[in-house]
Amino acid sequence: MSKRYTITAALPYTNGPIHIGHLAGVYVPADIYARYKRLTGNDVAFICGSDEHGVPITIKAKKEGVTPQDIVDKYHANIKKSFEDFGITFDNYSRTSAKIHHDTAQEFFKTLNDKGEFIEDVTEQLYDAEANQFLADRFVTGTCPKCGNEEAYGDQCESCGSSLNATDLINPKSAITGNVPSLKETKHWFLPLDKHEKFLKEWILKDHKKDWKPNVYGQVKSWIDDGLRPRAVTRDLDWGIPVPASGGEGKVLYVWFDAPIGYISSTKEWAAREGKDWEPYWKDKDTKLVHFIGKDNIVFHCIIFPAMLKAEGSYILPDNVPANEFLNLEGKKLSTSKNWAVWLPDYLQDFPNMQDVLRYALTANAPESKDNDFTWKDFQARNNNELVAIFGNFINRVVVLTNKYYEGVVPEASEFSEIDNETLAAIKAYPAVIESSIERYRFREASQELMSLARLGNKYLADEEPWKLIKTDEVRTKTILFVALQISSALATLCEPFLPFTSTKLKDILSVSSSGVQNQWPDISTKDVLLPSGHQIGKGELLFSKIEDKTIEEQLEKLEASKRANEAANKTIEPQKDIITFEDFTKLDMRVGTILEAEKMPKTKKLLILKVDTGIDIRTIVSGIAESFTPEEVVGKQVTVLVNLAPRALRGVESEGMILMTETAEGKLVFVNPGTTVKSGLQIS
Ligand SMILES: [Zn+2]
Repeated sequence: MSKRYTITAALPYTNGPIHIGHLAGVYVPADIYARYKRLTGNDVAFICGSDEHGVPITIKAKKEGVTPQDIVDKYHANIKKSFEDFGITFDNYSRTSAKIHHDTAQEFFKTLNDKGEFIEDVTEQLYDAEANQFLADRFVTGTCPKCGNEEAYGDQCESCGSSLNATDLINPKSAITGNVPSLKETKHWFLPLDKHEKFLKEWILKDHKKDWKPNVYGQVKSWIDDGLRPRAVTRDLDWGIPVPASGGEGKVLYVWFDAPIGYISSTKEWAAREGKDWEPYWKDKDTKLVHFIGKDNIVFHCIIFPAMLKAEGSYILPDNVPANEFLNLEGKKLSTSKNWAVWLPDYLQDFPNMQDVLRYALTANAPESKDNDFTWKDFQARNNNELVAIFGNFINRVVVLTNKYYEGVVPEASEFSEIDNETLAAIKAYPAVIESSIERYRFREASQELMSLARLGNKYLADEEPWKLIKTDEVRTKTILFVALQISSALATLCEPFLPFTSTKLKDILSVSSSGVQNQWPDISTKDVLLPSGHQIGKGELLFSKIEDKTIEEQLEKLEASKRANEAANKTIEPQKDIITFEDFTKLDMRVGTILEAEKMPKTKKLLILKVDTGIDIRTIVSGIAESFTPEEVVGKQVTVLVNLAPRALRGVESEGMILMTETAEGKLVFVNPGTTVKSGLQIS
């Protein structure tokens, strides 16, 4: 029964922290699967690492004025730590800037090159003469030839999901300078995907028609039906893995060539540390290779990487690629650049020791077959109505009653009633039911099966009412609590893949972590007694606690703030006003002034009464800035004053001029002033 599994989770890209979209799409289902495979006695290598090459990292580094290495060091540490804190049980978390990865990727390339599996070709590529650089991937944007999206990238259109070559784009534009690129000749290595079309058709469209998810199968089919073309596996860039071939100077491996090889190098790193042989995990035909990814990576894991593995010749191919669809947040697409996300480090800080709540909410509502929506209200409901009201409530009642009636000792059962026997038989059926869902990569269904076992326990107690029977039938009460404790013990083991922190807590409460009554996954369906009479359990502690409306409102307010900032940033720029003559302009007399005094206009929110030294005189100006500044803040400030504006009375105070202001993205007013202190009264022209 025991099998070897190589389970990979998409390498996160190191240009930002992890958010709930990544977790729901890839890391939570992958971790449930890996934990479940370990619990059922298999040999598991659960592999991941940071993807540290590619154009977006170099663009980000340029923007921030640091090196690409600075960027990847920062986010690699951030991502690795938040995965650990969230309980994702990678056997190894590596990074593609590691030497072992550079060596492995170069060796892979050399093998393919030596076998004649590449086409070397000089082609015309987009070139930005001003930046002195070839433009590929994210360095170039333009119109998608398939769907007309005007913001497609040189490698992919995010609107229709097409994978593109930079030269496919209509009206290409350099992302570095904004220039229209020219064409220039350069040599590259191409993987002839068309050559592998026949094998891919056989292997996926025929052999995996039944066991791959329809969303994955459908995407692959449409790509193959479209016709596959040779794809460049090298790039003219300076950040990445140098091309190990003559003529490859100044070129690196395409990030999508090196990244999946990262699974192999991470396995090597792990095996070396553990004193194991890495090769069976990638080359033994009895090993099951499973890639967990999001839907944007399907082409790379189902077409390009398998073609590479096949061309190399000594590797196994994935058994399944259970890609998920996308998760939205409160009805809108998750976006790193718009800060429309729930970031994992923020969640861990705002909800300490509540990892399982997010794991559960994301699994119960996973985007397995279609895009799905995360809402804070649903998160709260999953916690309050399911984890607290069903799972937590059941365990709490069992533990409290056992302590109250029997000083925490599991009581003796006497004769079982029909309901008892049905209940005990139902427990035994649960492992197979949950397994069946997990084996088909239906994790939300599996999580609901787990919850139905807790529901069964809750109903059993509610129907049998031991708290009433204790007064009339002590023997029966003992049997009821014995049965309820068996359910609790089954839950402690079966919840581990889904709610690992809860599993540990519950095992502590039942005192089964270190004693001889610890159950393995298969025991739940084979053993008649999971928690024997006479066993001493511990004192209760609540497994879950209610989340109040206030907490949810705070999270929604955070998102509202993001929305406001985005709206402000995208505020439409007012169109230019009518042309004026130079003569018109010279009519405006603008001077540098200094604010000497300020006070609030009584009974108004917006107005300050200012005394301003204009250099000509000291005069009163009423200004609508009180919502952005206190009087104390503005005294001493140098400002720009339009001094020859006709005076007018505001709330009975005559205002003699106007102070020039503008507004930040957040709506705060700011003064337009000279960058350095100058003499009051200087003219602005
Ligand atoms: Zn498109």
